[in-house]
Amino acid sequence: MPISTLDIAWLAGILEGEGSFIQGKGSTPAIFLGMNDKDVVEKAAAIVGAKSIQTIQGTGNRSTHYRWQIGSTNAIQWCMTIYTLMGERRKARIRELIADYKSSRHYRKKNKCGHPDRRHFGNHQCRQCHARNYYVANRAKVNADNLARYFRDHEANKAKQAAYRMKRKGAQ
Ligand SMILES: [Zn+2]
Repeated sequence: MPISTLDIAWLAGILEGEGSFIQGKGSTPAIFLGMNDKDVVEKAAAIVGAKSIQTIQGTGNRSTHYRWQIGSTNAIQWCMTIYTLMGERRKARIRELIADYKSSRHYRKKNKCGHPDRRHFGNHQCRQCHARNYYVANRAKVNADNLARYFRDHEANKAKQAAYRMKRKGAQ
């Protein structure tokens, strides 16, 4: 779904009033929204890309409510996106969360391959750079493995085709 500036402004308003900005796992910020209005919660979830909405059944005089949470990179990106639209109290909270995140172990393990926005895969690299650098460092081995696989498949196919031809011949 394409996100318009109107959507972002709407979301900022909802989160200003009803959102929670909390510290999630490994000092990564998390954004949490819980409301009784299912349609509002769903619309906000669609904008931020929240994967699932939980339904909390109401008991006694508490009505049923709906909630979602986003964390990690997605939460940080949204914190930054809505920052300028937020009130002073929320802004201070977002700054605090981002500062905690930056000093966390998780942040220090960021990619150094020039793709800080991508998920860390290993050896301070994103998955793509890690795969490419592995290939460069182990080209001979990777090529040998690929060749071996090619010949193995090739021989197997040849055998299959021969068997098929034999069957055809036998049928005639
Ligand atoms: Zn990379």
